[in-house]
Amino acid sequence: MERGGSRPKEPCIAVLDATAVLCGGLEVLREKLCYTVPEVLEEVKTTRHRAHLEAFMDLGLLKVSTPPGSYVNRALEAAKRTGDYERLSKTDLQVIALALQLSEERGESVELVSDDYAVQNVASHLGVKYRSLKVRPIKLRVKWAYKCTACGSIQQEYVEVCPICGHKMRRVSLRREEV
Ligand SMILES: [Zn+2]
Repeated sequence: MERGGSRPKEPCIAVLDATAVLCGGLEVLREKLCYTVPEVLEEVKTTRHRAHLEAFMDLGLLKVSTPPGSYVNRALEAAKRTGDYERLSKTDLQVIALALQLSEERGESVELVSDDYAVQNVASHLGVKYRSLKVRPIKLRVKWAYKCTACGSIQQEYVEVCPICGHKMRRVSLRREEV
């Protein structure tokens, strides 16, 4: 029997830093709505990784947002207080600021995902939940699928044109699997 209200609420929004994005965070956190900042995308240099992230954005699984300056200032002040300021990049501060903004706007259903101790430390001082990804260094294999450029239908197997509307298909990565 369901006993309502007694179960702790799992965070449903995850804010990812650059390492979390690049180390398979989007795959691990598939049940959550993932956010990151534009600076993280700029740090993703390879075409392959970029295409991978764009596929997640196309599917609505990754949103990119810039936090207001007031939140960035609070992240910066907190980093100075904790002594982590020197260890944090501008991108790290943006990520912390976005997690702070979303936490305050949406309550406790947000967590910051980072394996960087300095990022975690500042987050905890701001009252932002955080978690490590702790992804083992495994080789991952991308599961590709094909998405219609017009209607968005997704086909598991390669087809040249969409079986629904007849427009061109584009390759997208659905998930990664351990090799
Ligand atoms: Zn179509």
